[in-house]
Amino acid sequence: MTDRNVPLRAVRIEPKCPTCGKPADPKYKPFCSKRCADIDLGRWLKESYRVPTDEVPGEDDPENRGDGPSGQRG
Ligand SMILES: [Zn+2]
Repeated sequence: MTDRNVPLRAVRIEPKCPTCGKPADPKYKPFCSKRCADIDLGRWLKESYRVPTDEVPGEDDPENRGDGPSGQRG
């Protein structure tokens, strides 16, 4: 078994569009089209704009209640 018959071709690494995976267009590198570039940019901006919301689940500690002992009901 010899692997000498492997065709050695100069493989050029072509950049692929990160959005759709198509070969990138030098005009819109590294994207294949302006559309894909816009899509990616939009996505990126969204991520950037997404501020961490402080979702505090309501500070409702039973120990924090200055309402005395539970009891009187109805
Ligand atoms: Zn694309």
